[in-house]
Amino acid sequence: MDLTSGVEELKGVGPKKAEILKRAGIKTLRDFFYNLPREYESFQMATTIAAMRPGKVVVKGKIDSLSTRRARRRNLSITEGVVRDNTGAVKVVWFNQAYRAKQFDPTKEYYFTGNYELKNNRYQLSSPAAALVTDIDPEAGINPVYKAHGTLKSYDFKKLMNGARDKFSAIPDLLPTVRAGVRKDALFRVHFPNSIADATRAREYLAYEELFALILAAKLNRRENDKLKALPAKFDAEKIRAFVAKLPFRLTNAQRLAAWEIFQDMERDIPMNRLLQGDVGSGKTMVAALAAYEAVLSGLQVALIAPTAILANQHFEGLAALLEQFDIKVALLTGATKKKPELKRRILDGEVDVVIGTHALLTDDTEFKRLGLVVIDEQHRFGVGQRQKLALKSPAGLAPHLLAMTATPIPRSLQLTVFGDLDVSVLNELPAGRQPIETSILTEVDTKERLYPKIAATMTLPPDAKGLAKGSRAKGQQIYWICKAIDDSTVSEATSVKTRTRKLQQAFPRAKVEFLHGKMKPAEKDDIMERFARGEIDILVSTTVVEVGVDVPTATFMVIENADSYGLAQLHQLRGRVGRGASKSYCVLLTSGDTKPSMRLREIAKSSDGFHLAEIDLKIRGPGEIYGALQHGALDLRIASLSDTKLIHRAQADVELFLQTGKNVLEYKELAAGISKYQQLTTLN
Ligand code: ADP
Ligand code: MG
Repeated sequence: MDLTSGVEELKGVGPKKAEILKRAGIKTLRDFFYNLPREYESFQMATTIAAMRPGKVVVKGKIDSLSTRRARRRNLSITEGVVRDNTGAVKVVWFNQAYRAKQFDPTKEYYFTGNYELKNNRYQLSSPAAALVTDIDPEAGINPVYKAHGTLKSYDFKKLMNGARDKFSAIPDLLPTVRAGVRKDALFRVHFPNSIADATRAREYLAYEELFALILAAKLNRRENDKLKALPAKFDAEKIRAFVAKLPFRLTNAQRLAAWEIFQDMERDIPMNRLLQGDVGSGKTMVAALAAYEAVLSGLQVALIAPTAILANQHFEGLAALLEQFDIKVALLTGATKKKPELKRRILDGEVDVVIGTHALLTDDTEFKRLGLVVIDEQHRFGVGQRQKLALKSPAGLAPHLLAMTATPIPRSLQLTVFGDLDVSVLNELPAGRQPIETSILTEVDTKERLYPKIAATMTLPPDAKGLAKGSRAKGQQIYWICKAIDDSTVSEATSVKTRTRKLQQAFPRAKVEFLHGKMKPAEKDDIMERFARGEIDILVSTTVVEVGVDVPTATFMVIENADSYGLAQLHQLRGRVGRGASKSYCVLLTSGDTKPSMRLREIAKSSDGFHLAEIDLKIRGPGEIYGALQHGALDLRIASLSDTKLIHRAQADVELFLQTGKNVLEYKELAAGISKYQQLTTLN
């Protein structure tokens, strides 16, 4: 048996089930075995209704009074019933599980396993799983519960797993460092445990394997990077000092330290592979400018890539003005660039020193003479393949130095594992004089009475002179208003960009209100952004296209409509568009008010520290999801918890021991396959 075989090989899986499984991401036997139970329930812990305490409970009883109704708002069905035993009765509620209304025989006894909790001032049993008492072997011990996918319920997964019992013995070992057979034993125990403790031990072993592979991948990458050759850039203290003296502000200590680390990396003839992490507004671009200057001084070309044209434009405007004072040729290459062939020829001939651009930089016909430094802004927006494409544009046999910048902080716990072997610089301080952004949560119905007056007031506040962009005509401070949708639609209640623009224009007839969204032509977008930066637009209603990087220091007020529909990291990024100058900035999170503000919103209102918020996000969502969003799904830790530092340390130590034996990973087929997906994740070059 091969773990890479398709799920069709399983007993009871025909084309239809195979399709459902595949859609759920369970394609191979490996996926199938690693589809671990979501939780375990034990019918031995069943209590009577009278003895139930809030939290997870198992009760045995009969059910009646079943009915299903539609919720008034939203696309939701609610099925309710009453479970009784001879000590009492409890209301049960399921959401969007209308089949429950017809599932039960009122004369038979069932086990109900669910959450006993207070809702609307009344205790209820929420979304319980149910099993016929006569179906459960009283000796069965504990019962694994699998996540349902489509029509495949937990029960179906259990049945499939049962049919695959004889396949476990053929599961190959993964780690060469542990007793043979531990892996298959652990997987078997996770699916067929004798006790909760049994299952927990088995899971812990699987988590350890996962961390081992991840850490090994990171370490091997490091070794491979260090075998590559790069063009060194010599550190020129005098010229750098003169450059810094020309800046309109003092560098923060964090910026100095990061630049110094980068200069040291670039002096070597192996490629730099550094991640520059800094919260929104911490001044990463200036650090990149220093690195670029240093590279050009040594005759290297620099490519800076950004995820959007707006951002590339803005970098170009800022950096060209700065670098051209030192006779450095800077060019912009985006989809909208005119005379591309001419520009590309100049890049190839080495007439251009620094090229700033978007994905347009990645095309095969964009060739460099001596590309020595690649800067990737908002690196999480780029896939591994895209980053590699740029790296390949260096002269044959050489790799460029690479500086990847991100404002999405990587939680410390992730750093310990994935990035333990990646060089990281952190900008942990904001430029002097910044004030924290005051964030509040407001319900939509209060928009006119409580929000509009603040908008009006903002437009009368004098903009901070230091923050004014070149040629600025701003009369007052400016506002970003973020909407979910571009147009009105029948499926969503969200106010669209266009409708909101109209409403704001009506409410503030003397203000200049404009909108921006991703479907506009690049030239139009740039035009709007430029006019906003110059202060010719008072209120910019936009989708999240303004999310990354955009820097307009005179904008001091942000409204995020439908705030509940965004993730924590995204809200933090969006909010980072304000608070970029010396004036006090505000962010208002608008919610429907139907439900209590989510934990996410409450956290974001409390803190403006991106690193802290990343830790919280990791707790709320789990590593797979947070990192998945960051890295195009490359990191998929199913079992290990990144908060388990003890296990992480153990895996790290064992990986070291393994590497010291000098054994070649490629000799271990399973292990080599296991780490390849993680390897992609941790190489930048
Ligand atoms: P981010 O790290 O989010 O990319 P930027 O590089 O866009 O931040 O910088 C945010 C703003 O701070 C810019 O207007 C920039 O000119 C300014 N800035 C950068 N460094 C400093 C500094 N040391 N002192 C004052 N302002 C600075
Ligand atoms: Mg930036």
